[in-house]
Amino acid sequence: MKVTIPASLEVGGVAYRIRYDEQVFLRREGLGGQTRFSELEISLSDEVAPEKRSHTFLHEILHAIDEEYCNSKALDEKSTDAISSGLLQVLKQLGIEFVFEV
Ligand SMILES: [Zn+2]
Repeated sequence: MKVTIPASLEVGGVAYRIRYDEQVFLRREGLGGQTRFSELEISLSDEVAPEKRSHTFLHEILHAIDEEYCNSKALDEKSTDAISSGLLQVLKQLGIEFVFEV
């Protein structure tokens, strides 16, 4: 099942906007994505391979969940990455594939 990632996602009662328009910034910083809590924005690169982008999306969403539900205290970068990998594997087995409307 293909799931299209919407332009915004609610996390903990606030809506995070999903952006694809910061390619120059992300490339310069060497990032596949970035979450800005105060701006309620998640920026995703359009340059990475589809599976990598799905992983980055989950990673950034986990940062947003950690911020909204745990004051950014539950997860560090390493655990965020590990949980993203695990979630992606489970979703893949369930036949769920993300589609990004860049
Ligand atoms: Zn991160």
